[in-house]
Amino acid sequence: MERVLVWHRHNLRLHDRPDLQRALAAGGEVIPFYCFDSREFGETAFGFPKTGAYRSQFLREAVADLRQNLRRLGSDLVIRQGKPEEVIPKLVRELRIDWVICEEEVTTEERRVEDAVQMQLGGVPLKKEWGMTLYHPSQLPFSIAELPDVFTRFRKAVEKSAEVRPPLPPLREMSPLPEVAVGELPTWEELGVEPPLLDERGVLRFRGGESAGLQRLQDYVWNRDCLQNYKLTRNGMLGADYSSKFSPWLALGCLSPRWIAAEVQRYEAERVANDSTYWLLFELLWRDYFRFVAAKGGDRLFYPSGLQGLTIAWKQDWPRFKCWCEGRTGYPLVDANMRELAATGFMSNRGRQNVASFLTKNLGIDWRMGAEWFESLLIDYDVCSNWGNWNYTAGVGNDARGFRYFNIPKQSKDYDPKGEYVKHWLPELAGVPPHRIHDIYRLKAGELRQYGVNPGVSYPQPVVDLGKSLAKNRAIYEGAM
Ligand SMILES: Cc1cc2nc3c(=O)[nH]c(=O)nc-3n(C[C@H](O)[C@H](O)[C@H](O)COP(=O)(O)OP(=O)(O)OC[C@H]3O[C@@H](n4cnc5c(N)ncnc54)[C@H](O)[C@@H]3O)c2cc1C
Repeated sequence: MERVLVWHRHNLRLHDRPDLQRALAAGGEVIPFYCFDSREFGETAFGFPKTGAYRSQFLREAVADLRQNLRRLGSDLVIRQGKPEEVIPKLVRELRIDWVICEEEVTTEERRVEDAVQMQLGGVPLKKEWGMTLYHPSQLPFSIAELPDVFTRFRKAVEKSAEVRPPLPPLREMSPLPEVAVGELPTWEELGVEPPLLDERGVLRFRGGESAGLQRLQDYVWNRDCLQNYKLTRNGMLGADYSSKFSPWLALGCLSPRWIAAEVQRYEAERVANDSTYWLLFELLWRDYFRFVAAKGGDRLFYPSGLQGLTIAWKQDWPRFKCWCEGRTGYPLVDANMRELAATGFMSNRGRQNVASFLTKNLGIDWRMGAEWFESLLIDYDVCSNWGNWNYTAGVGNDARGFRYFNIPKQSKDYDPKGEYVKHWLPELAGVPPHRIHDIYRLKAGELRQYGVNPGVSYPQPVVDLGKSLAKNRAIYEGAM
């Protein structure tokens, strides 16, 4: 009878699992396994904690939930901490495992670990299954090398030629593990991370794991019927339900995108099919696209010149970068979003686009510093979506279309007309009337004091002039084209 080690990475769930089902179909003994890779708890190139407190918490909860769900089926999860290429071969020898299987990854660090594991396994095969996207790469009407550089062309071609396959059925039972020390979840101390404090102002108490992910899906789609308005609300910034908030569960694979797609289809059949129901699938297709872009672009995704290969003289201006990180730029929309990120590990898509534009187009700061800051803090950090979106916003992505930027005061007016979001995170601006909050940087010191703001003390003065900084960085950008 064959013994198979199922190595969990970014697929911490039991529903719709091609790799797990393939291992089970072989008819032998299946040993689910997770390794807390010590490198993931080191530092990024610019010196930030690679997995910060919020994501560490979400990950610990997700692994604990996976173990609990496996126990319910009669199995268990073997947990170790260390380097997979050292831990896995040891387990393979100890338990006389015949082959190992994991989900296929596409990015540099993840593939390097896979290669190292395979090398140390010698003759024991490391098999891989694709399982992260709506569409399997074999369903695409082009090879990865020929992937269109523009999303719309990708989307239209895919929607025309393929259908999202239904998710695999849930598992009902599994066989018990052979005799093995299953190991415990590493403590905070062992991970070298301080547990985060809970900030009640956050949009949602994100709890890691498949159980909480499926519950959020149930709540958002069925219990609160939010899906039917998704397209109208998705650009919001305040509250639990302006968008799905599925991203943290998707990033760790606690939710399968095909499972979500199947629920959307069921909702369309049972309740309503409209622009909003389609739009959620549209956004999930962006997620697919960034994964395929990463597969095509390889290491270029992480180069300062990005997928486009544009050599721009980015600055590594640490004092201004610090203002951005801490939400002290003097631009309320930027500051509120950056403080939300720092306090909760989450930020809306609208916020991410604005703060990334401000960092790269107004401050002219190396976009990789921003991408790494997000990597450290975001609970939904996904290597392809994060680095792909940063490439895109910095103007070095595969479809770079010149110097495009967000007009911060206009965005603030359009998406937070009453200043409620800004005031939620910047209580020091509570006395500023809604019609002045978006361009507070234009107000004279006396006026600010009248609204209870002590300029430069209770709220910072602008770090740059919006217009001048855009002109300067446009010239640098266009000089590189
Ligand atoms: C600079 C920047 C960095 C980002 N980093 C990440 C990241 O690390 N991880 C991540 O999941 N998303 C990232 N995004 C994309 C997007 O902001 C988040 O997916 C979204 O805000 C998550 O909230 P939600 O689940 O409520 O989204 P919803 O609006 O409900 O969308 C549903 C799902 O569609 C997918 N999606 C939506 N927009 C995008 C997008 N632009 N790119 C890729 N997928 C998308 C996500 O999986 C999301 O959960 C980034 C965007 C920017 C501009």
